[in-house]
Amino acid sequence: MLSQLKQQSLPDKCVVLTADDAYQSIAQNAYPLLKKYQMSMSVFVSSDSVDGKYKAMMNWQQMRDIQGDIMQFYNHSVGHTHFVNLDKTNIDQQIQQAQKRLKNELNVDAKILAYPYGKANLATFKQVKELGYVAFG
Ligand SMILES: [Zn+2]
Repeated sequence: MLSQLKQQSLPDKCVVLTADDAYQSIAQNAYPLLKKYQMSMSVFVSSDSVDGKYKAMMNWQQMRDIQGDIMQFYNHSVGHTHFVNLDKTNIDQQIQQAQKRLKNELNVDAKILAYPYGKANLATFKQVKELGYVAFG
């Protein structure tokens, strides 16, 4: 989808499915339906919620089990903190450390980010772009 966006050639009827936070319900409810109907979804993961083994969240193994054409996982920061409350160094750490966890656990290379709470300011937009990410908010 991103490559099509860059070429400005999206189909007339186009839907992109995304979900934030990697809740268990994505693996248990959404994934079987998406697989049945052959639709894909991008899920944005905050690494601390997985590393902290929160019961409401998928673990890394669950994500590896469903990762593929149907389900992709991307960066949603380490701690799911409002970026507007962080300085540049902390934002950088939030993004880079989460990306390392995604790389180590799921072999994710794509630099795609969803801002926690969907919020960022102009300085953050610029910073994230300079880091080479495509970001959504
Ligand atoms: Zn979120």
